[in-house]
Amino acid sequence: MTQYIIESVAIDFASNGVPENLDSCLNRFEETLSSSEAVDSDDSREFCEALFSALQDNTAEDIDEDSLQPGECEMCERYMPLTKHHLIPRMMHGRMRKHGYDRALLNQTADVCRPCHNAVHRCYTEKQLAMEFNTIEKLMQSAEIYRHAKWASKQPVRSRRVRQS
Ligand SMILES: [Zn+2]
Ligand SMILES: [Zn+2]
Repeated sequence: MTQYIIESVAIDFASNGVPENLDSCLNRFEETLSSSEAVDSDDSREFCEALFSALQDNTAEDIDEDSLQPGECEMCERYMPLTKHHLIPRMMHGRMRKHGYDRALLNQTADVCRPCHNAVHRCYTEKQLAMEFNTIEKLMQSAEIYRHAKWASKQPVRSRRVRQS
């Protein structure tokens, strides 16, 4: 099922390019998503919103368009469209090289959803991230990040689904 969605979205990207705004994202993918019984229409809207904000992020800040795909967030462990967080922000690469960090270390990324990615950058400066919180483990040891991840993990991706029994 998920595989079907990923394939449909990937095929659409390949033939029509990356959508320019949320509306076109919705137009293009809502039908695909809602045509499957596993996803109701609120869910598909939410998925599109998350997908589009992840896309925007990937084209603007962390330029890794190829790697955008849904998966498990390394922080909150929800199944979401993922963004790449550079564990050592690019701005700091010059300085970190002087600290003996090599290219492989500098290019390490973590796959995190947009809300978790935002939390990371809201809590710490690029310098703090590079020096003190440059692995997922270290990030998760931060009380603030841990609290966010714990909270986020309980936010359902399908928050608007109404359960009827
Ligand atoms: Zn997350
Ligand atoms: Zn980041």
